[in-house]
Amino acid sequence: MSLVLKFGGSSVADATCIRRVAEIVRAAAPRSPVVVLSAMGKTTDGLFAAAQTAERGETEAALRALREIVAKHKKACVELWEGEPPVDLQQFIEALSTQIDMLLRGVSLLRELSARSRDAIVSFGELMSSQIVAAFLHSRSVPTSWLDVRRVMRTDARFGEAEPQAAQISALARTELVPLMAEGRVVVTQGYIGATKDGITTTLGRGGSDYSASLIGAAIGAAEVQIWTDVEGILTADPRMVAEPTPILELSFREAAELAAFGAKVLHPATIQPAVEANIPVTVRHTMRPDGKFSTITALGGTGSPRPATAIASRGPIQVITIESTRMLAQSGFLARIFEVFGRLGVSVDVVATAEVSVSLTVEANAPIDAIRKELGAFAHVSVAADRALVALVGERLKHTPGLAARVFGALSSINVEMISMGSNEINLSLVVERKDEAAAVRLLHQALFEGNGDSK
Ligand code: ASP
Ligand code: MG
Repeated sequence: MSLVLKFGGSSVADATCIRRVAEIVRAAAPRSPVVVLSAMGKTTDGLFAAAQTAERGETEAALRALREIVAKHKKACVELWEGEPPVDLQQFIEALSTQIDMLLRGVSLLRELSARSRDAIVSFGELMSSQIVAAFLHSRSVPTSWLDVRRVMRTDARFGEAEPQAAQISALARTELVPLMAEGRVVVTQGYIGATKDGITTTLGRGGSDYSASLIGAAIGAAEVQIWTDVEGILTADPRMVAEPTPILELSFREAAELAAFGAKVLHPATIQPAVEANIPVTVRHTMRPDGKFSTITALGGTGSPRPATAIASRGPIQVITIESTRMLAQSGFLARIFEVFGRLGVSVDVVATAEVSVSLTVEANAPIDAIRKELGAFAHVSVAADRALVALVGERLKHTPGLAARVFGALSSINVEMISMGSNEINLSLVVERKDEAAAVRLLHQALFEGNGDSK
């Protein structure tokens, strides 16, 4: 069965990286993979900046920025081919750069940058990187077809954040993409960009290439979607806090989503949802260490691991708000009134712990505390503790691990844990500690739960 290989911006940042990518693709070539590419390095940022410069009417500066971006691509080509790149690739680059040049001039003359114009401009990055990689594979004798993904990635017309239309994408993939694969070719295409039914260029939102890869994977019924990036999968803890976190070999979609909510930057779970829903495993792999470890995300995750937790995450600063009813306690509707206030103020609440006489909950550091105090003050005593952090164990097996709380408190005996709460989805056990204790808490928990020699059940 077929594969989708997606390479992020850092994986195609320069000629050296592209050579690695070509090796990985060549090894997968017998399976006719679809290769989904991001723009090279920070190209998309650069194009956004050029578009904004043009919007301010600074034509020369915008065009200069464009020339720098084009030059970076040409330099990569010269390095890849150790001399003159193929003529049709050169022509493609010239044609695209002329188009963007005209678009930037238009924006600059009008001093108006619509989301639609911006999508047209920023789509350049993926068009360019995919042409270079396709041409390079071709010159290495890998049977390759470049596909303009706009023939397949049908979206609505919400420029900048377009919504892909899965049913039409599947139908278009059958006619535009699958036949190329059936001929035994590697199909090289773009992440991030799409088109409306009228063929107008759209984008799926920043970082959208993972989303493209999983949509394409679902459309062709791939056996696996591989996300190639610059880390060995998703780690058991933040390497800035723990000396040697290890890649999580298998995790569930819910665990990945939970880790992302805690700020793990590897991937945004919503972007892999189409693949997971279609029961296609998504793996996260390191482009510079193709034979190293990697993470596999599936709907159910790993079932064989003996560890009670899959990962440890943390987030700070946050604030803890404690609310005590001024009137009769436990009066009906007290919680409802509290949450009505948070709902109305648009403040999202993370962890809630209720005691007999009070309710404590956590909110982000930037929550509108004064407004919250004022509204809740009408019917309750409110106190706020700032500079706290949330530390969480994440794992599908937490709820099946007897004695877990005892182990957690044992590990954290030197730290003051202010709140503890099992998430309603039952895959996270959250603790609130002072911000200054965040890193130590993560480290101690990691030691106790991940660095032991299999003493866990
Ligand atoms: N190049 C796009 C961006 O930087 C899409 C992606 O890399 O996923 O947002
Ligand atoms: Mg990216």
